[in-house]
Amino acid sequence: MRYAIPAPEVTTIPVLGGDPFPVRRIYCVGRNYADHAREMGHDPDREPPFFFMKPADAVVPTGSTIPYPPKTKDYQHEIELVVALGRGGRDVPVEKALDLVFGYAVGLDMTRRDVQGEAKKLGRPWDLGKGFDQSAPCAPISPVAKVGHIAKGAIWLKVNGQVRQKGDIAQLIWNVAETISYLSAYVALGAGDLIYSGTPAGVAAVVKGDKLEGHVDGLRDLVITIG
Ligand code: MN
Repeated sequence: MRYAIPAPEVTTIPVLGGDPFPVRRIYCVGRNYADHAREMGHDPDREPPFFFMKPADAVVPTGSTIPYPPKTKDYQHEIELVVALGRGGRDVPVEKALDLVFGYAVGLDMTRRDVQGEAKKLGRPWDLGKGFDQSAPCAPISPVAKVGHIAKGAIWLKVNGQVRQKGDIAQLIWNVAETISYLSAYVALGAGDLIYSGTPAGVAAVVKGDKLEGHVDGLRDLVITIG
């Protein structure tokens, strides 16, 4: 195929013991742990999930040093379980939803909290608070074929060796199957889609030089330095 301009490269994520995973779209779930919903000033009752997106090329691999982004004074971490889809679908029933999952990874939903907060206040989109360059660090993907499905287990984030966020995957308000099913009623999901499933309490700001270590039991750790 010839294009008018050089075609953008496909963003990929390493897969343990396999070929790289090509990223199609990135969906993120908002407020999916009760303790985080509370810390953001919301009622953690089981209201329907909501979603926002990041561009596929916001993914950066573990081991990266990412620059402190422009236009923020409150750059925050959100440690999350990432679900990588190997198949697509629409109107997928909950009981079939896990069939779409290729694997799981540890990810960070990096956030310009001040930009997001201003958007919330004005009723504007969150895009520039959430979907900016290098805002989606992601560790290598562990395929379901190797590690099974991740339904429980510790999730935590350390900054400079100190635990900042801590929770358990079992505390997800909407679990992975429910999230996939719900989202697939709104959009046709595709192979290559990532779903960042939400973050537990403890979100806070980072500064230049901070070292972030993210963990979910059973998966590869994510290490990111703020440059
Ligand atoms: Mn998040």
